[in-house]
This record gives sequence, C-alpha cells and structure tokens, in this order.
Amino acid sequence: MSRASPDPLKCGARLKHRRGFCSNTPLDGATRCLWHGGKSTGVKTADGRARVTAGRAAWLDRMRRLKADGKIDRIPGGAKGRSGRPKKSALPSPFKLSSSAPPIARRAMRALAAADAKLPPLPRFPADHPRAGEPIPSGDPAFASLAEPVMVSANLRLALVASHRILTDGCAKFAALDALPDGDPAKDPGQRLKLLRIIQAEAHNAIKLALRVAPETMRPKRSTSQLVELVMRLRAGITEHPRQPD
Ligand SMILES: [Zn+2]
Repeated sequence: MSRASPDPLKCGARLKHRRGFCSNTPLDGATRCLWHGGKSTGVKTADGRARVTAGRAAWLDRMRRLKADGKIDRIPGGAKGRSGRPKKSALPSPFKLSSSAPPIARRAMRALAAADAKLPPLPRFPADHPRAGEPIPSGDPAFASLAEPVMVSANLRLALVASHRILTDGCAKFAALDALPDGDPAKDPGQRLKLLRIIQAEAHNAIKLALRVAPETMRPKRSTSQLVELVMRLRAGITEHPRQPD
C-alpha cells in the first residue's frame, strides 16, 4: 500500500531493497516523481471509473466470502480495530521472523516452514468453536483433552522453531563480533565463550521446556535483542573496568 510522503517537496515512494524512500521532486500537480507514478493521470473516462468501482466491489465480495468461510482473519486494508491498530490473529505464525533477522535466519526459517508443511497438521479448534481453525494453545482447556502424543508433537514443533531461532539469530550476533576492530573488548575469547554458552543454554531450554506441554513457558528468558544488549553491557563493563594485568 502506498502512502503519502510526509514531506510534500519529496516523492516519498518506498524504494526496493530497503533503500528507504525516494527523495526526488514530485512532478507539477502530482505527489510522485517521474519514476514513481507522477506521470499517471489516473482514471479519466466515466467507463474507466465504472470499471474501477465494479472491480473493487467484486474483490470486496470475494474477500467477504473468504472471511465468512474462515479462510482469512480480516479483509486486507479494511477497517482497523478500535485501538487504531490492525487486528492481529490470536497466534502468530511460528515461522515469522522479525524484519531485522539476518538473511541466513530467514532462509533457515523458510526451510523449517517447508519441512513443517509436510508434517501432520497441528491440532486446531473445531468448526463449531468461536476460534475455529486456530491452533489450540496449550493453556486452553481444549488442549488437555488431546491425546498425549498430539500434545507433545505440537509443542515439540514449536520448540524446535524457537530453539532454531535462538541458534541462528544468536550465531549471527556472534559472527558479527568478527567485524569489530582488533583489540575490542567484546572480541576477548572469554567473553565470546560466555556469549556462545548463553546462546547454547537458551536453545537447549526451549527444547527441554517443550516436554512441559506449555508453549508460553518455552519462550527464552532472554530475547535475541536482549542478547545483543548483554553483549553491549559486557563491552561497556570491560571498558569501564579494564582487566588488571597479572
Ligand atoms: Zn520517486
């Protein structure tokens, strides 16, 4: 979805490959530059206008039917929730990564999602339930009525994703230490080992906790952003209190 430029003197179109926003000057009488639709006249004829209206009505009709069938949560670009934010589905996809995740983590997640798609489906609420079609979280009473192997396999899959995420994100953070200049305290082998051990322990924890059959307890105690914070704190600590020579 395009959005208006916050600065009327700039085009503001979003650029590919996260290169930010276009800073070209818009064409006269347009809000976009030559390259981003500034030359477009929009719909000119009454017939064209009618076709746009009919097309939108047909799309809306299709979306309403998909929503009624429970195939989509909400109509894309439709009315927002009361808080002014778009409504979120009750359980985010376990394979969704933050947009700041390193490319290697995204590739690995895609591979995991493909492998997951071949496994038997996760237990979901039945059609007569108000949350029909959503995966059953283990806190829900409905979860307790599932067969034990189903519970364990559902949790184990989420745990694998969680531990995988910790490992890939963590290792990317670890590898980033190489880029620091020589002599940087964070490059100290002892500190690096400490970070590796934290990453390893957290990934391990996610798997161990899966057997407790409660995904909300599988969340790592430290998020990956907290890992970064920890490294930064370690760095700051070492810099403030330089190691005494023996
Ligand atoms: Zn532009």
